[in-house]
Amino acid sequence: MNSYTPLLAALVFLLIGLAAGKAWERYKLRDGTWIDRRRARESPHYILGLNFLVANQIDQAIEELTRAASLDADALEVHMILGNLYREKGQVGKAITVHQQLLQRPRLSRLEHAHVLLCLGLDYKRGGFVERALEAFTEVLRLDPKNEYALLNLQKLHEEQHQWTEAYDTRRRLSKLADTDSRPQSQAILAFLENEIGLEAVRRKDYSEAVRRFEAAIDLDARAVPAYLNLGDVRLAQGNEREAAAIWERVVDVAPDRAYLAFDRLEALASRTGSPERFTRLCRRLIDENAQDWRARLALSRHLALSGQHREALDLLFAALVQNPHALGIHQAIWRALGQLHHPASLVDRYSELTRHAVFYLDPHVCMRCRYRSTELLWQCPHCHDWNTFVEERIAPAQDATEVEV
Ligand SMILES: [Zn+2]
Repeated sequence: MNSYTPLLAALVFLLIGLAAGKAWERYKLRDGTWIDRRRARESPHYILGLNFLVANQIDQAIEELTRAASLDADALEVHMILGNLYREKGQVGKAITVHQQLLQRPRLSRLEHAHVLLCLGLDYKRGGFVERALEAFTEVLRLDPKNEYALLNLQKLHEEQHQWTEAYDTRRRLSKLADTDSRPQSQAILAFLENEIGLEAVRRKDYSEAVRRFEAAIDLDARAVPAYLNLGDVRLAQGNEREAAAIWERVVDVAPDRAYLAFDRLEALASRTGSPERFTRLCRRLIDENAQDWRARLALSRHLALSGQHREALDLLFAALVQNPHALGIHQAIWRALGQLHHPASLVDRYSELTRHAVFYLDPHVCMRCRYRSTELLWQCPHCHDWNTFVEERIAPAQDATEVEV
């Protein structure tokens, strides 16, 4: 689960190191002490240290880089990386001391100052000193307004504090710097943040502001599922059932794989407005369009069971089970349906046949970035704090599992 983070951190150290190295070179020429400055970076300890760093062997990296640093007390970049490694090891106090000492140096260039402050901000963040981290990243941006790494960290800190407006503004600055390839992803993150701002407005019962925010989220990213759900909730709270239903049904069109998130709402509304067949039609449509949609089958079976159609419900559940033998919800529904039908032997046998090779597990959602697992679909990963990174992991269907077992 944690394997990704140190590697990323190591690469970031390197990038920061290289960037600082460039700034440092200019400083070096200006100062005219060329030979001394090269000593640390040309020593084998420096290269060995970087190799250990890339191989994620932090203790050895610290050892070699400490030796390299001792050859040249002025080597800013080596000391900066050393500080970062202490932080990575959890020695935050030591990291802060190293970076603070570097800040005291006279004649730091503007960019060098920004880089050291960025490292210090990361130390504070790691140590849980939120206010000081915010201050450090803000100062980095004053010195270097296009520092994407500072912007990203600032955004994440604001998110952790639930300061959604500040997080949104920071993300917008980042979006402007993003290249065309990463723009859609950036828009999607902005949409999640708009959605959070909208939810704050809902809590204040400021429905017009909430609607504006949810609609803005959908404009930013047509697949912003939570914004549709919340916008429908607001319309329902305003007594506009028709519009609520229309908005939730749009989820089915824009994100059929996530449509199940609107099922409870749509089913309740269909029943309350006296047109339960509207929900039936919707589920049938989803099943027709995607034969693997086990959630639509589960929802439809539950809907049919409510009106006593237990045999039809059970057929749907068996079909759902073939698509996803591991979903606990399907098994529970099957047992309820079998109970309603008084456990006819032929149906119990069929169920037993379908489940013989199933492997059960409770947490099918997994973060694509850090492999964090969750029972429910989450929009923001509690481990790596990235947005919209969860996919549903499936083990092979029952018949394939047999082959694996043999
Ligand atoms: Zn994650």
